[in-house]
Amino acid sequence: MKRNTLQKQIVMHALKEMHNHPTASQIYEYIHQDYPSISKATIFRILNQGCEEGIIMKVMVSDNEAHYEPINKPHYHMRCRLCSKIIDAPMIYHPEFDHNTFDSPDFLIEGHTIEFYGICRQCQKQAKKETNHEQTPTTRSKGRNRT
Ligand SMILES: [Zn+2]
Ligand SMILES: [Zn+2]
Repeated sequence: MKRNTLQKQIVMHALKEMHNHPTASQIYEYIHQDYPSISKATIFRILNQGCEEGIIMKVMVSDNEAHYEPINKPHYHMRCRLCSKIIDAPMIYHPEFDHNTFDSPDFLIEGHTIEFYGICRQCQKQAKKETNHEQTPTTRSKGRNRT
């Protein structure tokens, strides 16, 4: 029981420290450095528990892996399609979208998400570097495709 509380604190702490919407695997990597005895299964269990208890939020983005963040005010996300990084969007949340935007008598709306996708600043920089690189002559492929 006590051990469980401690593990939970460690996971919550990591989640707050990382503040970049990590996946369960990323949280595991992070925690593993300091606490190699905590298994991935334990971290999954704590994350799921945290979601049920309402202290952790599963970030709804169109990505294959679930991302997590500590419970926060509702907000939207921006996802980099190159590195899959998820960033909080600096946009006002619209709770009214859940209520009075349209009539849907057959559908109970519980919430909504907006995901902006694009390229993050780091990837933009990286792309610039690579284009510059391509323009300068390289000797890399020399000797390879010789027939
Ligand atoms: Zn990126
Ligand atoms: Zn967020």
